[in-house]
Amino acid sequence: MRGLEAARRYYSEWFHPFPWAELKLSEFAGLDNYAQGFPTDITFSESIGFLTLPTPESNAVLLVTAHEAAHQWWGNLLIPGKGPGGNVLSEGLSHYSALKLIEQLDGQEARRQTAKRMEERYGKDRRVDAEQPLVKLDGSRDGDTVVLYEKGGWTFWMLEDVMGRDAMHAGLQAFLKQYMNNADHPVLQDFLAVMRPFAPSPEAFDRFTRQAFFEVVVPEYRVTDARVSKEGGQWVTTATVTNVGAGRMPVEVAVTKAAEAAAPQGAARAVTRVEPDAGGAARVTLRSGFAPERLVVDPDVRVLQLRRDQAQAALTPP
Ligand SMILES: [Zn+2]
Repeated sequence: MRGLEAARRYYSEWFHPFPWAELKLSEFAGLDNYAQGFPTDITFSESIGFLTLPTPESNAVLLVTAHEAAHQWWGNLLIPGKGPGGNVLSEGLSHYSALKLIEQLDGQEARRQTAKRMEERYGKDRRVDAEQPLVKLDGSRDGDTVVLYEKGGWTFWMLEDVMGRDAMHAGLQAFLKQYMNNADHPVLQDFLAVMRPFAPSPEAFDRFTRQAFFEVVVPEYRVTDARVSKEGGQWVTTATVTNVGAGRMPVEVAVTKAAEAAAPQGAARAVTRVEPDAGGAARVTLRSGFAPERLVVDPDVRVLQLRRDQAQAALTPP
């Protein structure tokens, strides 16, 4: 109920007013294992989260509800074209919407945990030798499903970071307006053409969308030579961050006081930003007023990457 009510309120605010009177979940017995969002009615199997107890790391019933409710907009109001990349507008945008709703309802940390689970699934189930770019995705290859949902959702999330939240919402609203009642059903290229004029930096938009939609590139970061010294009342951490994967994304690097990789919200941290090329390295220097215990690449879980657990280093203060 919490997910359904929030979906009606926030998706209406972010995307387009919900046009129907009713939105409900219809539970069915675990004879099959899926949920599906028809206009006003979401059929929801008992065995895909309906009976699952939520934990701080994973709330399956909320994720599925938020995803299926998002199909009221992405799939029902907006019907994508039947062609390569079309379905990403339905499944990817629904996963993106679900991440946003989870953050709205349960905060940053819940969103980070959900995004990490999605990223782990992508890293595990993708087929490196067969993966197609999102614009060519047609469901014909092994591994396409995880690209459609997990990479798709993540990609729209990162696009929002590139454009800024208000510009992203304005673009999505314009996209729905243009294609909701249009016999010309859109695919990803149509989506990007509508979004681009809303981007504050067309260059940044092009740089990101070329990599994320038209290529198959995923960064992977390693931290080496991490050292801490003391200068006056400050601790100075230096390290090298290497991108041993592909692609090039601006990414945050932080030192934190908490020894855990996922520092609790509000924990002391100092942050800088690097953008190492594929195969390239960047030196970082971070000054903090506390003795740092860990250096973490992408502490807020905002850049889709491989082997995130290795993109960090424990620090030993002098
Ligand atoms: Zn779906």
